[in-house]
Amino acid sequence: FSSEELTQAYLQRIEQYNTRLGCFITVDPERSLSQARAADIRLARGEGGPLLGIPVAHKDIFCTEGWLTTCGSRMLSNFVAPYDAHVIQRFKEAGSVILGKTNMDEFAMGSSNETSFYGPVHNPWQLTHVPGGSSGGSAAAVAARLAPLATATDTGGSIRQPAAFCGISGLKPTYGRVSRYGMIAFASSLDQGGLMAPSAADLAWSLGTLTGFDERDATSVARPEEDFGAQLEHSLEGLRIGLPRQYFGSGIAPGVAQAVEEALRVYESRGARLVEVDLPHSELSVPVYYVLAPAEASSNLSRYDGVRYGWRASQYGDLNEMIARSRAEGFGAEVKLRILTGAYVLSQGYYDAYYLQAQRVRRLIQQDFLQAFEQCDVLMGPTTPSTAFRFGDKGSDPVQMYLSDIFTIGVNLAGLPGMSIPVGFDGQGLPVGLQLIGPHFSEARLLAVAHGYQ
Ligand code: GLN
Repeated sequence: FSSEELTQAYLQRIEQYNTRLGCFITVDPERSLSQARAADIRLARGEGGPLLGIPVAHKDIFCTEGWLTTCGSRMLSNFVAPYDAHVIQRFKEAGSVILGKTNMDEFAMGSSNETSFYGPVHNPWQLTHVPGGSSGGSAAAVAARLAPLATATDTGGSIRQPAAFCGISGLKPTYGRVSRYGMIAFASSLDQGGLMAPSAADLAWSLGTLTGFDERDATSVARPEEDFGAQLEHSLEGLRIGLPRQYFGSGIAPGVAQAVEEALRVYESRGARLVEVDLPHSELSVPVYYVLAPAEASSNLSRYDGVRYGWRASQYGDLNEMIARSRAEGFGAEVKLRILTGAYVLSQGYYDAYYLQAQRVRRLIQQDFLQAFEQCDVLMGPTTPSTAFRFGDKGSDPVQMYLSDIFTIGVNLAGLPGMSIPVGFDGQGLPVGLQLIGPHFSEARLLAVAHGYQ
């Protein structure tokens, strides 16, 4: 079948299910279909490439030329991007079709998609439950088969946690692997673009499209090109799987613990060896993250001033009031909380006590991981302490919400690659995710290890 037929089939599913699920903020069927027809011409000419003609959903954090790009915020509810993010540009060159822009927590701040200006996304497995966040739209779209593949970003877990909650596979690459150019900034030292798909094999075949050096991102890393798809088949014989003691303590829902134990037994039965390792500073990762990420966010989000683009208040006296009102109206409560926290920890008198201290502990957390990798090839544990929760369950207490990222945040602080793969269900029929963490630039290995289970 043609790319046009494939795209049409997905657009039909989106039309049928999106009102109930809320996965997409923007779809533009005519534009998608014309891209599909262009891909069909390339296919007819005998051109190849794994993504040629494949429709892909993009998180609404990636600037997409000519498309509304909102980042889930009222602040950007009128922003049509004048250029493509590096990631979007790469997908276009590969001949993939833009299926639409997916819903997300406002400015990627959240773990449940409840902070989006465009309303919540529903978990396809149980509509009363959240899909996770911040990439909830991408995760739910892939899980409900409204898209075969989706882009997403992960600053503290936003690819892995929603992938776990929705029962799909998600990969957060090593920091620097994927250019952040045109990816709307939240916390620049932690943000990393990545992918969501049903399986690790899908991720492996697509990853090469995203990776590679880009001079427009100062933290982009130049590495030799890798064929991730070709390295998928690898024996698990002798693989050393490290189990961080701190990821298996109390506080893990029984259904999650059981599914993860069973997955580990599968790995053992295929020749892997389990070793216990220590990440002594891991309990500090949430407090460190919630100093550093808001600090960076308060700086990054100062660009939204109502002057150049984005939301502008309609009534104001002088310039200062225009800026203040535009920001008061344009940002939601969680974003304001982060900006205030960030400005506080960066302010004179508090900088040393909070920001600088957090930077020091960040280094210790990174060293913990590097030491653990002296004893094992890959770390495994639950992606999240519980499965998807109900809407409103954690909304009233930000700390409860923040704790749902307790196992994912360390990976961002250390800049490591991490994955979540589905390993079954809890007693309530909600999916459980297994997290895989590898040393820097070990994506090929991680994908192969994930594929070895699937
Ligand atoms: N849930 C975390 C937060 O709210 C992480 C979000 C993300 O990875 N973008 O900041």
